[in-house]
Amino acid sequence: MSTSVKKLPSIVESMSTLISQNSISSVLPQYDRSNMDVIHSLAEWFEALGFEVDVLPIAGEPGKANLLATMGKGDGGLVLSGHTDTVPCNPEKWTSDPFTLTERDGKYYGLGTCDMKGFFSLVIEAVQAFKAGDFKQPLMVLATADEESSMTGARALAEQGKVKGRYAVVGEPTSLRPIRMHKGIIMETVRLTGKAGHSSNPDLGINSIDAMHDVIGELRNLRGELQRNYSNAHFAVSVPTLNLGCIHGGDNPNRICGSCELAFDLRALPGMSNDDLREQIRQRLNPIAEQNKVEFELETLFPGVEPFETAKTSALVEAAERLTGYQSEAVAFATEAPFLQALGFETIVLGPGSIDQAHQVDEFIAIDQIEPCVELLRSLIQRFCVDAS
Ligand SMILES: [Zn+2]
Repeated sequence: MSTSVKKLPSIVESMSTLISQNSISSVLPQYDRSNMDVIHSLAEWFEALGFEVDVLPIAGEPGKANLLATMGKGDGGLVLSGHTDTVPCNPEKWTSDPFTLTERDGKYYGLGTCDMKGFFSLVIEAVQAFKAGDFKQPLMVLATADEESSMTGARALAEQGKVKGRYAVVGEPTSLRPIRMHKGIIMETVRLTGKAGHSSNPDLGINSIDAMHDVIGELRNLRGELQRNYSNAHFAVSVPTLNLGCIHGGDNPNRICGSCELAFDLRALPGMSNDDLREQIRQRLNPIAEQNKVEFELETLFPGVEPFETAKTSALVEAAERLTGYQSEAVAFATEAPFLQALGFETIVLGPGSIDQAHQVDEFIAIDQIEPCVELLRSLIQRFCVDAS
């Protein structure tokens, strides 16, 4: 054993370190933190394991980076992918400190244990069973920034096109069941601007709430049509959804409301396209704005995540189903999978811990998920990097 191998931490040691490194990402600047501590820890460990490590800064996002660690060469291979950030938390509501890995009742508690810095600790454990000479195809580990806030890390990777390979596993918490589908999501704001005036004479203004009433009607029509035209029985909610989330407008009962805005999300099924949906919304709302003589803007609140589906016949899906004993499923939450798919990877979501504990007070990973996950990762590495032709 070379001296460098001694630097490698145990699962608990690496998980303790990663959990202690605050890497919250948030669209609210007061909560948003750099992920560089986590990136540096991972870089150090994967270098010690003999990987070639690239830290990839994200343009326009100081203090944020992705990491790509590669062992072996070839144009195929397997990517094990996770995000380095966590959501914000309410420490005062936790039973123990969210930044201190704490073992209790067969569980490791801490912010990011299951969603999902803990996954990297299991990857580090799994890869120690292999050495570079074993690999016919490369094994890559990808650690991204800002998944919980804006997905800028995954988006930057997709734009750079640097990561290449054939298969990808996103280790989000799925209780070790293979996931090959999820819905997409967009969030949009409709902004209508009319003209304020004294309410005693409607001709003195243009009422934006009246106009918004028609907009809401049309969005509900659209929702009904989408739900009649698209359905996928793999999903617990089998149809696309459109939720009218918040509305603001006006200031007084005796003033004509000059401006009104409405924000909604739309979760599309695989086979639908976010860009097409935005275009449809625009085309349907434009005439309504014209009829009502209001100005109309559609603002995209974040770039969105495309719906995701990998074919059931994919070699990766087949291997994951065989190794776990579970049929592949669909989940309700969005992941970075569509960005990896856009890079040409056959992609699944499969990881330890449960989504029920993600984004919650007292987040944990059940200890009995750890050994099976390490074994599963070893089997996938064996199949797609060692035995791979
Ligand atoms: Zn996650």
